[in-house]
Amino acid sequence: MDVTLNILAMPKLQKYMQKIKRYKVKLKKLIYRIGISYPIEFELIDETPKKLILPCHLGILFFGDFEIPFFEEIKLYLNQIYDSFFFNIRDLGGYSFSIELFYKGVKKEYKEMKKSSNKIKIHPTNKFYQILIDKRNEENLGMILAITDLPIFSSYNDNILFLFGEAHLKHRCCIVSSLKLKEQFYNRPENHTLLGMRILKEILHEVGHIILGPDHCLNNSCVMRFSKDIKEIDEKSNELCEPCKIKVEKIREQFNF
Ligand SMILES: [Zn+2]
Ligand SMILES: [Zn+2]
Repeated sequence: MDVTLNILAMPKLQKYMQKIKRYKVKLKKLIYRIGISYPIEFELIDETPKKLILPCHLGILFFGDFEIPFFEEIKLYLNQIYDSFFFNIRDLGGYSFSIELFYKGVKKEYKEMKKSSNKIKIHPTNKFYQILIDKRNEENLGMILAITDLPIFSSYNDNILFLFGEAHLKHRCCIVSSLKLKEQFYNRPENHTLLGMRILKEILHEVGHIILGPDHCLNNSCVMRFSKDIKEIDEKSNELCEPCKIKVEKIREQFNF
C-alpha cells in the first residue's frame, strides 16, 4: 500500500470511522433499551470513560423496593473512612427495571445453603453497570454505587453466583447485594443491626476497590480483605488497616487534596 496516499486519506477515513463508531454506540443503546438479547448484549457502553479524578461526587442508586438500615450512618462512614474524597454523597433514589430488562440476562439457580427445589432468578452485574454508567454520566458523578436486594452474579466469571458485591474499576461503578447479607438467607431470624453493618462493610470494600484498585488486603481485620462467606464479613472490621490507610493517604497526595 502507498504510504503517502494512506496518510493523505487518514483525516477523511478517521472522520468516517468516528461516524460509524457513533452510530454503533447509538444502535447498541437503542437495542439495549428495547431489551433485545443478542450475544454482546452486555458489552458496556461508556461515552465518557474518563479516569477517576478525586475528590469526586458519589451517587447511590437503589434497585428494589427496600430500606437500607442506617443509611445516613453509611454516608457518614464513607466520609470518615475516605475522608474528603467526596464532595458529596447523593441519594439517587430507586430504579425499577422494566419487565423486559428485569428478565434480561437472568439465570435461574438453586439458592445456596438451602435445601429447596425452587430455583431463583439471579441477575448479571453488567446489567446494573450499564444503568450505573448512564446515570453517572447523566448526573456528572465521579463514582456511582448500586445497592440491591436482588441476587447477582458476576458478568466476568460465570462461576461466581450470589455475589456480595463487585466493582468495575474502569467504569467507576460498583454494586452491593443485600440478599446474602440478610440473616434470613441462612434461615436465621432477621437482624437489622447486623444487616446494616454488613452492608456498610461491603460498601466500604467496593468503593475501596475503585479508589485503591483491585487488590485485596491480607490483614485479617481490614475491610479490604476478601470475604468468601458471611462469617468472614462478620469477622472483619468496618475500617481500613494502617497500610491501607497509608495507601489512601498517598492517593490523596497524588490528587493534591
Ligand atoms: Zn474485593
Ligand atoms: Zn488493609
